[in-house]
Amino acid sequence: MDLDTAGAASRLMTRLDDFSAFTDEPGKLTRLYLSPSYRAACDQFAKWAVEAGMSARIDAVGNVRARYEGKSAGAPALMIGSHIDTVRDAGRFDGNLGALAALAVVEQLAEKGIRLDHALEVVAIGDEEGVRFSTAMTGSRALAGGLSATAMEAKDKQGVTVGEALKAFGGDPERAYSARARGVAAFVELHIEQGPVLEAKGLALGVVGAINGATRMLVTVTGLAGHAGCVPMDLRRDAVAAAAEMILAVEARAKAEPDLVATVGRLEVEPGAVNVIPGLARFSLDVRSPRDEWRRRAVSDIHAAATQIAARRHVETVMQPVHEAPAYVCDARIVAGFDRALTGMGLPAFHLPSGAGHDTMVMGALAPAGMLFVRCAGGVSHNPAESITGEDGALALAALTRFALEFKG
Ligand SMILES: [Zn+2]
Repeated sequence: MDLDTAGAASRLMTRLDDFSAFTDEPGKLTRLYLSPSYRAACDQFAKWAVEAGMSARIDAVGNVRARYEGKSAGAPALMIGSHIDTVRDAGRFDGNLGALAALAVVEQLAEKGIRLDHALEVVAIGDEEGVRFSTAMTGSRALAGGLSATAMEAKDKQGVTVGEALKAFGGDPERAYSARARGVAAFVELHIEQGPVLEAKGLALGVVGAINGATRMLVTVTGLAGHAGCVPMDLRRDAVAAAAEMILAVEARAKAEPDLVATVGRLEVEPGAVNVIPGLARFSLDVRSPRDEWRRRAVSDIHAAATQIAARRHVETVMQPVHEAPAYVCDARIVAGFDRALTGMGLPAFHLPSGAGHDTMVMGALAPAGMLFVRCAGGVSHNPAESITGEDGALALAALTRFALEFKG
């Protein structure tokens, strides 16, 4: 098919710049869910969709929904999109790239009057980042029919609830549950990688195999505090020395398995004095993996190692779970579709897991879902320095377009 993908790609890059003007804080990009700038961004997005020949509306929870009919009206839709809310002082590409690229896919078809067997639905989703309220993924949860009973009651720092903010925005909290999408054959999302893997491999694009699940624990090591000068080394029960050995065991276990990552990001020491042997150490443990069974096995191995170290060092250890999120394994047919799109363009079909959460994992409850990652400079995201090259943007749009054209509902 003779599409002007190069033209669409350069317009996409320009639009990403223009779109970053919708911000709550002048001089930086901060677009929190349901803020005035979020509203203005939704309106602009819907305007572009209408100009491209789509029908567009903003749903009850503040997602933009735009539809491009297929050959027959009312056909099942391939839904494409990402979020348009951002973190504070964000980059221009996280989320926005996927939403605006979805629009660009349709624009290329509309320019040539091409209709597919399936409809295309473009979505710009709200509250993926979960910065404003004590909740996250409100938009995709509503689309997928997974909104919790208390979703409208979550508050921001000023005490404004999601329901109140929605009313001010022009949404309808009473009808939040009606935002559930119907007739969706599949959901796909293009997103920046937010990590350094594609750059290290010298690849522009990668197919996401799974969005990692996570286990978070609080590990407490109790030894015996004592005088740093008076207790000989062989009579000590040093909690920090034991914790240090455990932390190295965590690192070794994660390094021994591809795609498993484990991090100790916080370490507290008591009493925390230069001349006292630490009696207590407390550290956080974060373990992530593309498969729940691999993650559970790693956590169990780490537990066994810590128990062994504690016994040898005559200290006590307790591992307390504080958070658990399951992995989302991307749909095999979607993954294969992206593989075909990449190989069709002469690119390797490289697979990688997503270390961060995305709307895709929520949308997976509604329909088969998957993601395509594009290389970002230095793996930097959630930062104004976030960037992709125009060439990579063009390749990403071409791959997403190819996927949409070849999709079989
Ligand atoms: Zn994102």
